[in-house]
Amino acid sequence: MNIVVCLKQVPDTTEVKIDPKTGTLVREGVPSIINPDDKNALEEALVLKENVGAKVTVISMGPPQAEAALREAIAMGADEAILISDRAFAGADTLATSNALAGTLRKLDYDIIFAGRQAIDGDTAQVGPEIAEHLGIPQITYVEKVSVEEDSLKVQRAWEDGYEVVSVKTPVLLTAIKELNSPRYMHMANIFEAVKKEIKIWSANDIDVDKSLLGLSGSPTKVKRSSTKEPKGQGEIVILQPKEAAAHAVSKLKMKHYI
Ligand code: FAD
Repeated sequence: MNIVVCLKQVPDTTEVKIDPKTGTLVREGVPSIINPDDKNALEEALVLKENVGAKVTVISMGPPQAEAALREAIAMGADEAILISDRAFAGADTLATSNALAGTLRKLDYDIIFAGRQAIDGDTAQVGPEIAEHLGIPQITYVEKVSVEEDSLKVQRAWEDGYEVVSVKTPVLLTAIKELNSPRYMHMANIFEAVKKEIKIWSANDIDVDKSLLGLSGSPTKVKRSSTKEPKGQGEIVILQPKEAAAHAVSKLKMKHYI
């Protein structure tokens, strides 16, 4: 079985700051991490590798420093990593991003493609489903359980108030949510391998896609304006015993008709 995991390197959002003058993310000095849902996607691929045997390839579109995320994936147990990195991808919206990733996948063998449900920086949850559409394969989103049955997969898909069990033949794209599993830590033996391992770097010329669908020219989304929310007020500091402080907070909330 060949499994490909789409993995995005994102800023560690608990530490991200917005520049109040420009309204853009301050990325300097902000640590990067593997997008959390993508770690769940990778973990499930590794579980399937252990249980039924599989080659796990991780792919990412990003700048050269995204290589670090791919090395971490190798240290967790992935077999191969490909970074697609090229100026031609710059300015990509979700459609152009998914076209670049689909173009990469056309060059690979896959039975299962895993993506995270959504990235914590872009937050659109569009890229996984768009890839499936470009490749013309079925997709199952919000995946919280996967098992292999003879020639198909049994997949449990989360709903707000329940779940749905779907049987699907491969090739298929699944988007992972955090309920799927608990991602493992990097394995000590794999860390040494990850340092030495060759990460393949592919350019726009190495993938199978119409180049007009990439980067800014392939992006129909135009961002007109972005802004950050102003704090609503100064807040109020009260120095009271816990009981009185709680009563004070309740009376304030009642006054504003929140409760
Ligand atoms: P989601 O759709 O929420 O992600 C779902 C899943 O898809 C992820 O969990 C992951 O598995 C997979 N995935 C998503 N992105 C990647 C990736 N890059 N590699 C591998 N897997 C992935 N971003 C830039 O970095 N540079 C730019 O110049 C830039 N310009 C933009 C211009 C416009 C007009 C817009 C709208 C966006 C731009 N972005 C840019 C942001 C970029 O489009 C998104 O970060 C990207 O498309 C992914 O969307 P998302 O974060 O909402 O991912």
